[in-house]
Amino acid sequence: MNQTGIDIEYYKQLAQQKQGEHRKFLATLKKKAPKDLDKIVQQMHREVFEEIDCTACANCCRTLGPLFTEADITRIAKHFRMKLSVFEDLYLKVDEDGDKVFQAMPCPFLGEDNLCSIYDIRPKACREFPHTDCKKIYQINHLTLKNTLTCPAAYLFVEKLRERL
Ligand code: SF4
Ligand code: SF4
Repeated sequence: MNQTGIDIEYYKQLAQQKQGEHRKFLATLKKKAPKDLDKIVQQMHREVFEEIDCTACANCCRTLGPLFTEADITRIAKHFRMKLSVFEDLYLKVDEDGDKVFQAMPCPFLGEDNLCSIYDIRPKACREFPHTDCKKIYQINHLTLKNTLTCPAAYLFVEKLRERL
């Protein structure tokens, strides 16, 4: 159990056990997607986030972290009244893929209360994670599968979608 309630290890173990099944299931969506898939995906996404309280988890903020766009950097640096170069030197590095990411995790903007201290101006990637409301979800199958290992919501999403279809 993490400090605030969601048993992240439990979900991770389930996701590991079901990786094969989940991979096969997601592949079937790519082969022949139901006509109303986007609508069903939106519904499953809503149901999952009615069940899962991200403020009781924050595992993505502890372990993954976002890729920063230039617009993210400009917006957040401005918020702190910092020059872009100072913000980047202080918080970011370029990873092996050439993307700008946090120098270290957990995210420096994750508060002790488990809340994001820059929520309204957080990076786009943070807003979109875990991408479970994405149109044509089968186009990001590899990402969804990977996310089930760190994100209880992504795991539940795949489970619910499987039950529904
Ligand atoms: S998006 Fe996933 S990993 Fe991040 S806080 Fe919510 S449930 Fe946890
Ligand atoms: S900026 Fe906010 S939402 Fe994004 S990783 Fe940090 S704490 Fe989480």
